[in-house]
Amino acid sequence: MHNKTWGVHVGNVVGGGSVVNGMRFDLGSDADYNTWEQPGNPNWGHEGLAKYFKRSTHFDEPSESTRERLNITYDLQAYRDGPVKVSIPSFQYDDYKNIMGSFLASDLPNTIEGSSRPLGTFWTPNTIDNSTKERCHARFAYYDPVKGRPNLQLLTNNHVNEILFTSSSKLTASGVEFTNNAKASIKTVHATKEIILAAGGVFTPHLFMLSGVGPEDVLSAAKIPVKRNLPAVGSNFQDHQALYMRFQLSNQTIPNPDMLVGTTIDKVFNASAAAQYNSNRTGPWTFGRGNAAAFLTFKQFCHRYQNITSDILIQNATAYLPEQYKHNKSLTLRILWQTLSWCVMPPRTQSISKCSASLYAGTVDTGRHSRCFSDTLRSRQYQAHSSRQMMKFSTPASKLPLSTQLTPTQVVGVHLCRRSLEAVLIRS
Ligand SMILES: Cc1cc2nc3c(=O)[nH]c(=O)nc-3n(C[C@H](O)[C@H](O)[C@H](O)COP(=O)(O)OP(=O)(O)OC[C@H]3O[C@@H](n4cnc5c(N)ncnc54)[C@H](O)[C@@H]3O)c2cc1C
Repeated sequence: MHNKTWGVHVGNVVGGGSVVNGMRFDLGSDADYNTWEQPGNPNWGHEGLAKYFKRSTHFDEPSESTRERLNITYDLQAYRDGPVKVSIPSFQYDDYKNIMGSFLASDLPNTIEGSSRPLGTFWTPNTIDNSTKERCHARFAYYDPVKGRPNLQLLTNNHVNEILFTSSSKLTASGVEFTNNAKASIKTVHATKEIILAAGGVFTPHLFMLSGVGPEDVLSAAKIPVKRNLPAVGSNFQDHQALYMRFQLSNQTIPNPDMLVGTTIDKVFNASAAAQYNSNRTGPWTFGRGNAAAFLTFKQFCHRYQNITSDILIQNATAYLPEQYKHNKSLTLRILWQTLSWCVMPPRTQSISKCSASLYAGTVDTGRHSRCFSDTLRSRQYQAHSSRQMMKFSTPASKLPLSTQLTPTQVVGVHLCRRSLEAVLIRS
């Protein structure tokens, strides 16, 4: 990345990012969640989390005529009757027939949203509440239904500066110090039971660090007294890049989304769409940011995929990471684990046991997976099976001492990423 920096957007409002986000509600793939669990976080994998995803959402289908006109597919079993309302609007532009059709004509796989392997083209819901045709967000879903409770108080326009800890050797959070932005006054509150920190991916570790919990060198450089040296706090931050490719379409059908925005706005059409929405919540204004999606594999949009993937596989990740990763094995291990999980995984995560069986026999199908990030071209994994990728292992995993038995993924990693990984995994 040549030491470039990017701004990160977060929603500083009750409901956080869900109030300002793009309303795309696509479920992640099982492999993504499993890389959370694999380094030692039981129940954070897909199997452990899927029931909560299901329980939290309620899905409304588009009308039958829209579904049939555009051949919209989805898995109703992926949702239950939770507080987060998601839907695929019944109003859909005809051009989506051609857009989806061109994906399929290019032989991209057609998958169903809600499945645990969303690879290829599919239809995703939006966080739009079908009963109001308005955005559903965390405040509407979780706070508003219980806001009348006498034991619940929401303090808006207040900023938590620090988590307070009891001064015993066992670090226990006992309260928070916060600033009232309007009055610029500082106050503290204390917990009788527990403190739940949910300040998002950026500000949760930030707040930990401001409170003295984090990497010693970072805290000392910022002159924050260290209460607990935890190098993992604030490390391994990942986000997906948005790479937009815009195409000028010359033969769009009427109506189309360009008629509602920017320089191509059709004022008459927009006014009638507004009137339709305001009178009976139908029409173009009920359409969110679109529901057709394609998660393409690297192989499908880059002819140099093999060279680039090979280069990544032989890279020593620590050479590109901040200094602290070089000195901390557990941080390095986590990064390598993820690189491996993305670049080199058993062909199907659900068939790990099958893969172990073949591994014990001394061979394993590497089933390479790769991944790239972009908004519309965000790939999950790709599989390129070939007989060349069948490798022989000189030491079957079953012969390793029990304490160092490795899962198939790790073993594949040791083999392929010899330079960077062997030292870490074999010695650990
Ligand atoms: C512009 C944008 C577009 C996006 N588009 C999509 C999309 O289309 N689909 C999708 O799935 N995801 C999308 N996302 C991501 C998604 O919105 C976030 O992943 C999600 O909201 C994260 O939820 P969270 O609860 O972890 O954190 P957040 O939503 O960030 O919530 C954290 C909350 O903590 C508060 N907070 C932070 N620090 C403090 C402090 N010190 N004191 C008091 N309060 C504090 C913040 O104000 C905020 O309310 C988008 C995000 C953005 C910003």
